Amino acid sequence: MALFAPEKIKENFELLAQRIAVACERVGRSPDELRVIPVTKEFAPTAIEVAYANGYKQVGENKVQELVDKYEALKQDGAYADLELILIGHLQSNKARFLADYVSEFHALDSLRLAARLNRFMVEAGRVLPVYVQVNTSLEQSKYGLPVAETLDFIDECAAFSHLRVVGLMTLAMNSKNEEEVRQCFRTLRQLRDQAQLKYPTVRRLSMGMSGDFEIAIEEGATDIRVGQMIFGSRDIPNELAHFWPEDRAR
Ligand SMILES: *Cc1c(COP(=O)(O)O)cnc(C)c1O
Repeated sequence: MALFAPEKIKENFELLAQRIAVACERVGRSPDELRVIPVTKEFAPTAIEVAYANGYKQVGENKVQELVDKYEALKQDGAYADLELILIGHLQSNKARFLADYVSEFHALDSLRLAARLNRFMVEAGRVLPVYVQVNTSLEQSKYGLPVAETLDFIDECAAFSHLRVVGLMTLAMNSKNEEEVRQCFRTLRQLRDQAQLKYPTVRRLSMGMSGDFEIAIEEGATDIRVGQMIFGSRDIPNELAHFWPEDRAR
């Protein structure tokens, strides 16, 4: 894991802002509509400190245990009081209780069993958790995310959970060099969001786009991009081998 030096990370944030501006301009959007979630997974807590120093008070982590450990390491003695950790990766139901204490938003809700447990812990904590429903928009047999055809019914069922608020949808696009295939995944998510929004006006956000494809995601309407390697350095495990994509796509 090669975490870039703080000066280099600062430069990368600036470069990212420029690339976002150019992509927004192409489709007549304002960069103000867009939230960058720096993804600090697999990097030491220093990465979070550097993001914070650059003005990013929300960061994304994909594993709940790692998120909790970093939270504990950083938030001692009342430091980083306004830092928020967003869980962007899959969560097992038996770890749902951690979200009440450590997580400000959850971007990978994909089962009713998990939703029911999460809701129970949020009721106990007296907090409403903003959640994004993860959708499997690539036609691959991905492990995570709901099938497109089941997503609207799922959102209907989530309406019963008093302490979860579905604010948007999330996806990982196909891991492909073919830009049209990637774009189609983002388009599918946007169309689903448009349909869901007719019935539930609060379902507004689109969490899509990462280091390799955020410009396409912006062109297709992303409101939240989740960017790690482009900012902080490459991780040891390349995305195509990481567990969130199926093995048969590995190159
Ligand atoms: C790691 C990860 C990202 C960021 O990927 P990068 O290649 O580091 O930009 C985005 N979303 C999820 C769910 C991730 O796990």
